[in-house]
Amino acid sequence: MTNTTTPAPDPSTGARIGPNAITRVAEILAAVEGTRACDEIFAQAGLANYLTTPPSFMLPEHHVTALHAALHAKLGPPRARVILWLAGRRTGEYLLAHRIPRAAQTLLRLLLTPLNTRLLCALILRNGWTFAGSGQLRITHAGGTVISIAANPLAAGTDAPGCVYFAATFETLFAALAHPGAHVVEHACAARGAEACEFELRLPARVPWLNVSSLIQSAKQKEALLF
Ligand SMILES: [Zn+2]
Repeated sequence: MTNTTTPAPDPSTGARIGPNAITRVAEILAAVEGTRACDEIFAQAGLANYLTTPPSFMLPEHHVTALHAALHAKLGPPRARVILWLAGRRTGEYLLAHRIPRAAQTLLRLLLTPLNTRLLCALILRNGWTFAGSGQLRITHAGGTVISIAANPLAAGTDAPGCVYFAATFETLFAALAHPGAHVVEHACAARGAEACEFELRLPARVPWLNVSSLIQSAKQKEALLF
């Protein structure tokens, strides 16, 4: 069993989250709901400037939570969840295209499962500071891999959590790099009274001992994802 945690963020500096949490939502929102709805939601969140000048730097966490609140208020929770799921997938695709080195991706696809899931978890944990904001990221492997985020900023203090964004991002990465049949399900949520949001990695009952076929499937899947 391996338990790992990220250090607590420094409260004196204010929590920050990477720009994908804003820019990918803008892309999907405009494509699915139209530019007018996108403009209105970003204006309601006080973030209209991010549409004219997409940010490329770490953003204050409260900008992301403000966008989620405006998204839910304008569209309602079911449609907001769809937007956030697609934005999470888009974030995963962006990370695959621009942030995770090709050599590392090839290695992960060739390694046995669950070894590749462990290495991918280590990569996610190392980069937790870029997406979890003030949340406390922790990954456990006892009885299955679970990524937990305590004090998740996308769930704290709201009855309309945006955790599906994280689930979709994680699932896109695991499906592309660990096993094409990987799914990520949030089985506990802080917005529903849990101590932390918990994202469970679910793999098919039988996984190949050698991932050559998975490598081919993942490559095809990746081509389809990068639309
Ligand atoms: Zn949650």
